[in-house]
Amino acid sequence: MNISDAERIASVLESIKYKPALKMSEADLIVVTMCSVRQSAVDRIHGLIEKFRKLKTKNYKLQTILTGCIIKKDRIKFEKSFDYLVDIKDIKKIPEILNPSLRAKRNLGNYLDITPKYSSKFSANVPIMTGCNNFCSYCVVPYARDREVSRPAKEVIAEVKNLVRNGYKEIWLLGQNVNSYKDGKNNFSNLLKMVNKIPGEFWIRFTSSHPKDFNDEVINTMAIGGKITPYLNLPAQSGDDKVLKSMNRHYTIKDYKNKIEKLKKKIPGIAISTDIIVGFPGETKKQFENTAKLFRDVKYDMAYINKYSPRIGTAAAKLNDNVLWEEKKRREKVLTEILKQTALKGSQKYIGKTVDVLIEGKKQASESERSPVVNRAKRGSTTGAKNIWFGRTNTYKVVKIESFKNILGKIVKVKITEAQPFTLKAKII
Ligand code: SAM
Ligand code: SF4
Repeated sequence: MNISDAERIASVLESIKYKPALKMSEADLIVVTMCSVRQSAVDRIHGLIEKFRKLKTKNYKLQTILTGCIIKKDRIKFEKSFDYLVDIKDIKKIPEILNPSLRAKRNLGNYLDITPKYSSKFSANVPIMTGCNNFCSYCVVPYARDREVSRPAKEVIAEVKNLVRNGYKEIWLLGQNVNSYKDGKNNFSNLLKMVNKIPGEFWIRFTSSHPKDFNDEVINTMAIGGKITPYLNLPAQSGDDKVLKSMNRHYTIKDYKNKIEKLKKKIPGIAISTDIIVGFPGETKKQFENTAKLFRDVKYDMAYINKYSPRIGTAAAKLNDNVLWEEKKRREKVLTEILKQTALKGSQKYIGKTVDVLIEGKKQASESERSPVVNRAKRGSTTGAKNIWFGRTNTYKVVKIESFKNILGKIVKVKITEAQPFTLKAKII
């Protein structure tokens, strides 16, 4: 969401003739798109403030803006350290903030209808909603991002059609809780079906899903397949019902597992990931063991494991954060070890298979990775340098591939030759 916000800010700035600076030291304007989910992200702002202070001594024209997800307390704290604090919903006003003579007369409307300056030429983030109504007890999002607002399906479809026309291969439908999308006429399942019907060769992904709203209708829509990829991030947050209740999550582990079972049955080969918080206030060793059991049972392909960090203003911040940092680290390690085993088993199923991979980037092969004997004419390269490309399968598994051709942004067919927990190796066929 931060990247997506930054792409809209870039577009607003280009509309008033700003150009991207190559280095921070060359910039006349720096806009920081802040994240408040964890304290560590907020702490990074302090480091930036110091950097900006030094830059300002060399460039008196430099202006700084803070926007993104900001809670009230940080707003007050950072107000004096930036030239402007701009609510994310007000980014259309940046031109008039920088130059009051540009004051807009008309109603500027929702910021999500700004055409973004996409940072990739083949993968695009398309927000379908913003904000959150759920108030999970640990989470700052409803305070930093306000209540849910869905974008009209017509607008989303127009944006995706335009992207596909321009050769985009991957569309991420974004929202804090995409499953509660509603524009008055359509729910999330309808929207997915509509995007799936757009002609062209592209993949549809979406995030985040909330288990309480992830229902049979969405499972059945995912099972249609087509452009909808067989991958789901379904954040469990904990494997213990009592902890889930204290987190205000509104589902039980039985509900969660039922949904996973249905998914696996209807979409064989689907890859599943989750988000987990370890060391939530009061989480006992026994309750944590239930999360470890959930990991062993579901056999996740990936998990984003977070050590609980108290966020001021949330309900959980009033609870006693009584799990020591060392113990949180231990719990994270235990889950990572289980994950490595289940992800490896999942990855090994790909060996020998032919799959499509969307190529996202490359790294120059190191000396040891270079083949000693290569036919230069055959590989069509004048430099002799071999590249290791990396991309993802439609199930979101990372794949490394050697190729001399420029395959960036293309969906290529590869044969999987090796498997590690989180990376596959493959050859182009
Ligand atoms: N909307 C998604 C959901 O319902 O699960 C999650 C979005 S949240 C912005 C991203 C992730 O950050 C969460 O899944 C959670 O694991 C993590 N997170 C949020 N608040 C946290 C906190 N106070 N401490 C540690 N991790 C946190
Ligand atoms: Fe935060 Fe997600 Fe809960 Fe909303 S649903 S409060 S974004 S964790």
